[in-house]
Amino acid sequence: MQNVTVLGATGSIGLSTLDVLSRHPESYRIYALTAHSRMAELAQLCHHYKPQRVIVARAAQVDELAGLGVTADIGVGEAGLVEVSVAPEVQVVMAAIVGAAGLIPTLAAVQAGKRVLLANKEALVMTGELFMRAAQEHGATLLPVDSEHNAIFQCMDRPGESVHEQGIERLILTASGGPFRDMSLEAMAGVTPAQAIKHPRWSMGPKISVDSATLMNKGLELIEACWLFAVRPDQVQIVIHPESIIHSMVQYRDGTTLAQLGRPDMRTPIAQALAWPARIRSGVESLDMLACGGLHFQAPDEDRFPCLRLARAAMAAGGTAPAIVNAANEVAVAAFLQNDTSFTSIPAIIAGTLDRLAVQSAHQLQAVLDADRQARVIARELVPRFEVET
Ligand code: NAD
Ligand code: MG
Repeated sequence: MQNVTVLGATGSIGLSTLDVLSRHPESYRIYALTAHSRMAELAQLCHHYKPQRVIVARAAQVDELAGLGVTADIGVGEAGLVEVSVAPEVQVVMAAIVGAAGLIPTLAAVQAGKRVLLANKEALVMTGELFMRAAQEHGATLLPVDSEHNAIFQCMDRPGESVHEQGIERLILTASGGPFRDMSLEAMAGVTPAQAIKHPRWSMGPKISVDSATLMNKGLELIEACWLFAVRPDQVQIVIHPESIIHSMVQYRDGTTLAQLGRPDMRTPIAQALAWPARIRSGVESLDMLACGGLHFQAPDEDRFPCLRLARAAMAAGGTAPAIVNAANEVAVAAFLQNDTSFTSIPAIIAGTLDRLAVQSAHQLQAVLDADRQARVIARELVPRFEVET
């Protein structure tokens, strides 16, 4: 029996994780659930899954939850998130908070040597080197949940060894291309938040949905792949694959290309990461190959999707550059979702922030946290320059 903490339980990944866990009550017990908002939904989850502990964002939410009949021990804020990530009775931590907010608890779980199921890619993008070193030093088992990285992990013969030792020459990250795959830049300037969060293949939280539409999601995933698998950016090819059936591929030096295929349902990578090296039921049916139809591939257009280029440049610059890009992106996406800036201003705000902030070494966590804070200040100052025209 393993005790599991689900960070970000009310989100898209959090709910899919609870769905998978609930199919295996003999193997997993839910120790803690955390959420930032949506207390009524959190209360429902508590009644259903009966966690010992619950972590919320603000003190007022403690009374709100208690008023909704939740009897679990309720903690608050980042300190609470860290407690349930490092608790000795916990073996598995699902890191499914969105954005930089997930960094400290996710890193704490890694430093506590837990089995960490990593959905919160932003944490790794911000602190790649520190994060991977901590995992090694503290004996954490880091398992990628992001569907592309989970696919690559599954296509590796010996995931613990270096790509060179495994004979791997290239990783291929597939991308659906998002809802604006074939749209002109001029048309993209006028898209609304509702259009941007309506992803053609996947159902996800609002921030990652916008990231998928700008292709910043693929940019963050490029950085994520470089750290997880210790490869250079030039060893990662990004390929648009509109059907989202192949979730990514690995190419070996003997000419072999291995791919992982499946329905676009995150319960598959979640179940794989939970149980690895065993296989458990996830609730997802296998593909019907005869119903798949054709599979198509095309090169991404970095002129229409400059976020890809920005992410690549940040990885090449190293140090705090990926943390700066991540923070500026979070600010720009939030501004876009509030109708404060246009869709095509998102890359402009990120580029402007990168231009105005010197890149520092990222050996110390404090340097990364400082870069994150400074980048947010600068990006917020830039937003009004890109106000939506009314
Ligand atoms: P979501 O918006 O649906 O859920 C986010 C969760 O984090 C919620 O439970 C929310 O309460 C919590 N949260 C938000 N802000 C917080 C804060 N400041 N402090 C503490 N908790 C906070 O997001 P999602 O789509 O589930 O994505 C979660 C993570 O997984 C992201 O990093 C995303 O990039 C990654 N991911 C998601 C998918 C997907 O299919 N949804 C796929 C791959 C990777
Ligand atoms: Mg992904």
